Amino acid sequence: MVKKLKMNNGLEIPLLGFGTFQAKDGEEAYQSTLNAIKLGYRHIDTAAIYKNEESVGRAIKNSGIPRNQLFVTTKLWNDAHSYDKAQEALAGSLKRLGLDYVDLYLIHWPNPKALRDKWQETNAETWRYMEEAVAQGLVRSIGVSNFMVHHLEELEKTAKIQAAVNQIRLAPGCYQTEVIDYCKEKNILIEAWSPLGQGEIFQNQTMLELANKYQKTVAQIALAWSVQEGFIPLPKSVHEDRIKENMDFLDIELSQEDINIIRNLPGMAPIPDPDTKDY
Ligand code: NAD
Repeated sequence: MVKKLKMNNGLEIPLLGFGTFQAKDGEEAYQSTLNAIKLGYRHIDTAAIYKNEESVGRAIKNSGIPRNQLFVTTKLWNDAHSYDKAQEALAGSLKRLGLDYVDLYLIHWPNPKALRDKWQETNAETWRYMEEAVAQGLVRSIGVSNFMVHHLEELEKTAKIQAAVNQIRLAPGCYQTEVIDYCKEKNILIEAWSPLGQGEIFQNQTMLELANKYQKTVAQIALAWSVQEGFIPLPKSVHEDRIKENMDFLDIELSQEDINIIRNLPGMAPIPDPDTKDY
């Protein structure tokens, strides 16, 4: 049974989630999510923009696991940053997932390209609807993704409910000090997207040496690092053996020295800047 962490609203979240980005809608997303749940994952991460909510929802339903034992996250995409559009977006996600509620609903991106001159206002409006969705029982917790400190500070000016989670890119060699420190200070849990660096860590010499040292795989070392840093990693795979491998790391105890080596691993992909991305 995967351990849970407590969010700032008192609700719990499993400290490992199953990622579904780029799992193709249909058999691939369905079967991989079903396998993940059968293998013991209880936390599934999807998003409207992944276009696989229907398959993910079908897997959730057919898994036979009671709904209240699963933690399901989806995200509101950049085309839905207003009170009304957020309402429509959530209704659409719930319908595609075939669920009455999601456990966590995130604003996927703080500063969509089309709204660059008014993101402060549109995030506040979107959040106002998300707070109402909590009151209506359509979502249990609300949070954000790819928010940097200035986006979080701006949101706090109007929010009645504090973000429970910030989901950001965190992988070996990809450590976002400023926003991590801010979230820890504010008791906002941090989820790590692309915790395996979208594959780029597997050929890394240092990671291979650490895997050898601890007699584990590179993926397991990266995930152990993520959890020891206090993050909730969301590894993705569509292969059953890897899905299983990516759960089997909680017995690893990395030394502080190795944690620092992984944190500062050179040569990894740069951190995306949400204020200048082309979407
Ligand atoms: P990831 O870091 O989880 O890497 C996934 C890739 O690593 C797989 O496609 C596979 O090729 C490889 N892999 C997985 N397990 C392996 C293993 N044990 N051995 C060898 N190779 C293995 O990348 P990701 O999918 O980008 O991120 C994980 C999840 O984070 C996503 O699925 C999604 O749920 C979430 N995410 C969120 C955002 C966001 O903006 N909020 C962005 C990207 C991803």
